[in-house]
Amino acid sequence: MRRLLLPLLLALAAPLPAEAWNAAGHRLSAAVAWAEMSPATRDWVAAALARHPAHPRWQDKARPGEPMDILAEASTWADSIRNDPDIPDADKHRRWHYVDFDARGRVAAGELDRQVERLAGRLRSTADPEEISRSLPWLVHLVGDLHQPLHVGRHDDRGGNALQIENPYNRRRPFTSLHAYWDDLPGPPWLRGRRLEQKAQRLRADHPAPAFANVAAWRDESRKLLGEAYPDAVGSLLPLVDEAFQRRAQAIAERRVAEAGYRLGRLLEAIHRARVSRGTP
Ligand SMILES: [Zn+2]
Repeated sequence: MRRLLLPLLLALAAPLPAEAWNAAGHRLSAAVAWAEMSPATRDWVAAALARHPAHPRWQDKARPGEPMDILAEASTWADSIRNDPDIPDADKHRRWHYVDFDARGRVAAGELDRQVERLAGRLRSTADPEEISRSLPWLVHLVGDLHQPLHVGRHDDRGGNALQIENPYNRRRPFTSLHAYWDDLPGPPWLRGRRLEQKAQRLRADHPAPAFANVAAWRDESRKLLGEAYPDAVGSLLPLVDEAFQRRAQAIAERRVAEAGYRLGRLLEAIHRARVSRGTP
């Protein structure tokens, strides 16, 4: 009876709203991007982040004299403000983190792909340094979200937030939403500093740089991966993460985090180059 009751209760509990890759996924993509950027682009990014109001908080978590750490912290800012009472709700832009599709393949909710396009365009063209500082952490974060399959998800289960699964590979959270399961695959949320750098290096060694393609292609790749994102096996009551599924999902998540990082690095490089060639770096 207990075996049946616990998952049932957990399935009935209200799932948390969509987050993103957890902090480790975003920081890893930021670290991969940093490794891909030229010194001039790194300087431009670091200067823009130094003007952001949250910069002192990022600095507290960063190793001294390591501007890559600041970019890694800035990459999670868009999620960290969700429960910040000092930031007005309208500025939290919850709909920017995802784009959901209905059964017919039409966009049902969310603005993720549109906002990535818009922010990249603004960063290329704006002459306002404050707008650059405001937009940059958003772009860095949302390129990561766009590579997480469940952020380009099905509207009927709210991108896997409304689907509870059984996951024996996480002893502390054996029952969770499918969305949270995917968010947690890239690593523990406290991954920072030297360990973060080492894991980013490993991701770059294991995964070649993908074609840059374009924002619509990044979205469509995530959407195609949805077919592999749902477990087929069934546990006591719920879909079950078995060994084969866990291995495959882990590999997909790591590849997508690496791809997001490579593309983010090249995108920031192109944005900075466009500004320099116009004489407004
Ligand atoms: Zn997000």
